[in-house]
Amino acid sequence: MKTYRIAAIPGDGIGGEVISAGVEVLQALAQREGRFGVTVDTFDWGGEYYKAHGRMMPENGRDLIRHHNAILFGSAGHPEIPDHVTLWGLRLAICQPFDQYANVRPTRVLPGITSPLRNVAGGELDWVIVRENSEGEYAGVGGRVHQGLPIEAATDVSMFTRAGVERIMRFAFRLAQSRPRKLLTVVTKSNAQRHAMVMWDEIATAVAAEFPDVAWDKMLVDAMTVRMVMKPQTLDTIVATNLHADILSDLAAALAGSLGIAPTANINPEGAFPSMFEPIHGSAFDITGKGIANPIGTFWSSVMLLDHLGEAAAARRLMAAIERVTGDTRFHTPDLGGRARTADVTAAVIDAIQGAND
Ligand code: NAD
Ligand code: MN
Repeated sequence: MKTYRIAAIPGDGIGGEVISAGVEVLQALAQREGRFGVTVDTFDWGGEYYKAHGRMMPENGRDLIRHHNAILFGSAGHPEIPDHVTLWGLRLAICQPFDQYANVRPTRVLPGITSPLRNVAGGELDWVIVRENSEGEYAGVGGRVHQGLPIEAATDVSMFTRAGVERIMRFAFRLAQSRPRKLLTVVTKSNAQRHAMVMWDEIATAVAAEFPDVAWDKMLVDAMTVRMVMKPQTLDTIVATNLHADILSDLAAALAGSLGIAPTANINPEGAFPSMFEPIHGSAFDITGKGIANPIGTFWSSVMLLDHLGEAAAARRLMAAIERVTGDTRFHTPDLGGRARTADVTAAVIDAIQGAND
């Protein structure tokens, strides 16, 4: 029997709570399927590790997880450590060297969940946002001079490469092509940013020619926020830069009902490195330790992990279990207006996994 090795990195805040729920669910699922096993190695990297060792993960950290089949990640962010230190020291320290250049974020209004959008019922909204995850505004190029002096100056330079834009466009067009509507929206800002964003548009047009069966359009990022709210049904697959998609996907998560539900996958499409799956939310200090974190974002991320491993049947079973549980308001955590606890939701999903006989 095939056994997958998963590296679990809970990180900080509610990361530990949702990842241990996710591991429980993955193990219950493997048992129910009976066709594969799951071995989970958990790594205690993050803010507490930083306080003890002066770094977010050990120097050879990536070597320790490089040969795992996938990574399940919680959150990087600690109340006593600046966010840029935790983000660059852990999450980006994995994403960038592992060349996880495609960040994929599905958005749907799940059964039982109320969208703040007035005219959207469950099942009506079905988007996938593809975020360029390796360069652009978050390339890390820039610097500070004259620190602390009145003449202090700082730059963050966006870096777009032809190779980087081509590969994310191709990934997005291919994903759009695989979905029923075959519809892609390319988000841009080429009116104000007249160098890199113009190249971005040109490359989109060139790659589009390889996908004649995909309908596509172009949208300025500011107008895109309006379209997401006013005409959400006109969207399907969306591709955007690192910064633009970061913002748009938080908006998408809110429109789908809660940040606690939304999943994401950091994919290295070539499979040269493991891909990483994580809920899109952060450490949520305000609810840490209370046992009320919504674990659905982590469960849905686990669906993406299983799909990536080629375990489509197991992925479908888990997604069906999630939808059965969200459809029952008794299992809604406080972020969804309910009173359920993380453990209740986890137990309900495991019950649904064990009971479902499809
Ligand atoms: P956050 O996502 O942690 O929290 C925003 C709000 O949403 C909070 O009110 C929180 O309680 C709520 N929330 C988030 N996830 C929830 C869940 N699963 N269940 C119920 N409620 C949930 O964002 P923030 O407050 O801006 O950031 C807190 C810390 O997390 C910061 O240090 C930030 O840098 C970090 N962060 C990390 C990541 C990541 O590692 N991918 C992403 C976002 C934020
Ligand atoms: Mn974000």
